[in-house]
Amino acid sequence: MSKHPAPRLEVNLDKIYHNALTLVTNLRQRGITVTGITKATLGSPEIAETWLRAGVRGLGDSRVENIGRMRAAEISTLMTLIRSPMLSQVEQVVALTEMSFNTELSVIRKLSAAAKKANRIHGVVLMVELGDLREGIMPSFLKKTVREVLGFSNIVFMGIGTNLACRNGVSPDRENMAELSALADSIDATFGPIINTVSGGNSANLEWAFSGADIGRINNLRLGESMLLGCEPLHRKAIKGLHTSAVTLVAEVIELKNKPSKPWGNIAQSAFGEVISSSEQGSITQAILAIGRQDTDPDGLVPPPGIKILAASSDHLVVDVSNYHGRMKVGTELSFQLDYSALLRAMTSPFIPKIMQRSQMKFRIENV
Ligand SMILES: *Cc1c(COP(=O)(O)O)cnc(C)c1O
Repeated sequence: MSKHPAPRLEVNLDKIYHNALTLVTNLRQRGITVTGITKATLGSPEIAETWLRAGVRGLGDSRVENIGRMRAAEISTLMTLIRSPMLSQVEQVVALTEMSFNTELSVIRKLSAAAKKANRIHGVVLMVELGDLREGIMPSFLKKTVREVLGFSNIVFMGIGTNLACRNGVSPDRENMAELSALADSIDATFGPIINTVSGGNSANLEWAFSGADIGRINNLRLGESMLLGCEPLHRKAIKGLHTSAVTLVAEVIELKNKPSKPWGNIAQSAFGEVISSSEQGSITQAILAIGRQDTDPDGLVPPPGIKILAASSDHLVVDVSNYHGRMKVGTELSFQLDYSALLRAMTSPFIPKIMQRSQMKFRIENV
């Protein structure tokens, strides 16, 4: 095995493939396609390609820059911008994507003008507010908005979607999903059968999708976290049959000493504004790892069994390795599992190389 520097993210593409294939196959049986959401991977072409092989129907990202990166790597599939386009970016949006999620007519008007100028057609999905209070048109204004969208040149109305469990943790359930289906029915009843896509939500929708509930008109979900981490985000429970260790973060020990567990001197705030309360546990074996808040979210790291994370500053992660006494030295590497927040920050950190691992133990470093 070739040696890569720490810290590094090790991404097991075989496990990611397995996760994606499992979800795509199970959702297909319920009439639901999957859009692979690449934003937590900074638009990694290798992860995108892995998901496409597993059968995702298209890719989506919240940032046009990430979509540009995948286009530059010649990833060819339906690309969706899943955040409402900035007015200042409509030209790039039209050039780089087939479709975007929208809530503002002023933006769609500009997309229409940009598409006309570029001699392209751009698809629009209208996002509906169903209670989580992030993006979305209030349901009572939806029909009026659809009517206007149908009048724009070079714009095709593709359907509707919603996003829950992001700002307020409102869970997708029978009621709000049935409401989305009813809105689709009512638009079709008014304007003729014009709805192609009904995108029910993100990884937080999986519990609903597999609960046996009536799927109704929902025919698409947008998945990122579940295909990467193997967890559902409502209770952060592992999903049956998925790998939860597809991505690991490896960091290196730079100091290892027996130290008191309690600080001494006059105690004020730490570098990040916390007042730390530490218990008196006598002397511990304390290790410092060369990774910090600049690289990841230390609160979202899961250490190896028997190791406890004590604190983190910009560049240092302090851990209690008393249980590993004698089995560790300066230079030892430790592997951590990551939650979504830790993953997002590590993936986007320029300090952390992403090591893409395939079968037969072939390794490749991906450039950021
Ligand atoms: C991030 C995001 C997703 C994907 O969410 P996961 O929890 O990673 O599955 C889907 N839709 C929208 C609008 C998003 O912003």
